Amino acid sequence: MRIPLKPYPEDDPKQALRLRRFFMALGTYFVWLVLIIYCHILDFIRLAPRETALLYGFFLSINAIFYLLIRTGANKRFLDPSMTLAQMLTGTIAAMTIIYFTDRIRALMLFIYFVAFIFGIFRFNIRQYLAFALFALCSYGLVVLLLFYNHPATVAPKIEILQFIIFGAVIFWFSFICSYISHLRSRISTANRELTNALKTIETIAIQDDLTRIYNRRQMFTELRRGKSIADRTGMPIAIVIFDLDHFKWANDAFGHQKGDQILKGLVHEIKKELRETDIIARYGGEEFLVIMFDADIDGAKECGERIRKRAETVRYAGFPDTIRVTISTGITMYCHAESIDKMIHRADNALYRAKTNGRNRTEVELPESEYANDKS
Ligand code: GH3
Ligand code: MG
Ligand code: MG
Repeated sequence: MRIPLKPYPEDDPKQALRLRRFFMALGTYFVWLVLIIYCHILDFIRLAPRETALLYGFFLSINAIFYLLIRTGANKRFLDPSMTLAQMLTGTIAAMTIIYFTDRIRALMLFIYFVAFIFGIFRFNIRQYLAFALFALCSYGLVVLLLFYNHPATVAPKIEILQFIIFGAVIFWFSFICSYISHLRSRISTANRELTNALKTIETIAIQDDLTRIYNRRQMFTELRRGKSIADRTGMPIAIVIFDLDHFKWANDAFGHQKGDQILKGLVHEIKKELRETDIIARYGGEEFLVIMFDADIDGAKECGERIRKRAETVRYAGFPDTIRVTISTGITMYCHAESIDKMIHRADNALYRAKTNGRNRTEVELPESEYANDKS
């Protein structure tokens, strides 16, 4: 078990939140301490400094245990990892202990109890709140009874009974309001979670092709525009490879459209294995796909085009006769500085068309005119 030195765990927001709440609660213990010292100076409290130190030592030790439980992650095994009830019970017992030792301004000291009570807003439902209010009321009753037996001179029965009734009424009213807020809070966080998930789904739908799970045509253009702006600024070379399945109409006619879909999915799955991590593959439309290769020269692009073409030749498709093979034709080009994306795609399309007319299952290249000039020289 390792206790990290940083005050909040950076990689675990839930634990960080629990610790933040813990420190908020701990802060109130120190506010009380200042109050107790002041009451001691005014002689409202029957606690010597040594006894106060002992009492605080005790409650701070319990808090140290809470801290260690959260910091080591042991709390995650609990039914309520926030340990709200345990921390609030400790706070209640601490408040009641201070109240027991307070004379004359006892009713005022009840205020400090409500500080502990408020923390339930992070967790409690109405039943838990009512049970907790009952516990607080009983413990306050016990304090008054103990005072009645041990220090009868400090107890005025009529006033104590009235105080008890008022405390009971306020605390139960607080239970309703606080549990209502707690309920609203949990509804908001549920709604937030659902919204975040919905947003993720929408983001995925917006950029992904349903069938093949690769980028769709819209995201393909986004990536091309991004690449173009980098290339125009830095001179980074970009190559694109367009490929189209050969005689795919035949596969659809022979096996049905759904089986055709399976071929598309299976083929893309296999071809992805031939790409680099920085390459982007997208569905251009129908059974045509486009690979964007950043920082790749024409030799690299040709090699990639051939690699995926050869891979396609070997793919077998589950649920199809073993002899079924689907070949692809590829058209390759390079991006030319400051040209439009359409122009670049048009060149790759021309190359693909040539690959089809030259017999299919082959790779053709069409370079920008400036590159032709370089090639000829
Ligand atoms: P080639 O490209 O070699 O010239 O011949 P082809 O038979 O593949 O002809 P073409 O590219 O013109 O036809 C594309 C076919 O791909 C027609 C269409 O039914 C099929 N297709 C396009 N998108 C899908 C799809 O999402 N699922 C299925 N199953 N078929 C599709
Ligand atoms: Mg085709
Ligand atoms: Mg086609």
